[in-house]
Amino acid sequence: MAAGEPQADCLFCKIVAGDVPATVVHETKDVVAFRDINPQAPTHILVIPRAHYPNAGDLGANAPDLAGTLLAEAASVAAAEDIADSGYRIVFNTGAGAGQTVFHVHAHLLGGRGLSWPPG
Ligand code: C5P
Repeated sequence: MAAGEPQADCLFCKIVAGDVPATVVHETKDVVAFRDINPQAPTHILVIPRAHYPNAGDLGANAPDLAGTLLAEAASVAAAEDIADSGYRIVFNTGAGAGQTVFHVHAHLLGGRGLSWPPG
């Protein structure tokens, strides 16, 4: 498998392709941002690269420019959603042991409520 290539059995590749519905709030040639179907905060958006990388480590190692773009786009979405001033969290669950269930890298953008630390 070539790094970044779409995977037939990947749910988020299907969202990128438009084959699975999602509430898209922002998209560029590189990323798609959509509302999480099981929100954990008043604002809970997933920001994903169109290209398939299984997790944040793979993205950073294979496509560092795209990793930077993903973070910049997440910040843009935070501003557009009006959560930038109150503070927000960007989370990459990485590995099943950390709660990752979809193995196409995604930034969880969470805000709109107080966020405690440490996370669960
Ligand atoms: O970090 P993790 O891999 O667990 O996150 C996957 C996220 O994808 C979950 O928060 C889940 O609610 C979300 N999801 C979604 N739309 C789908 C399937 C999963 O927003 N169709």
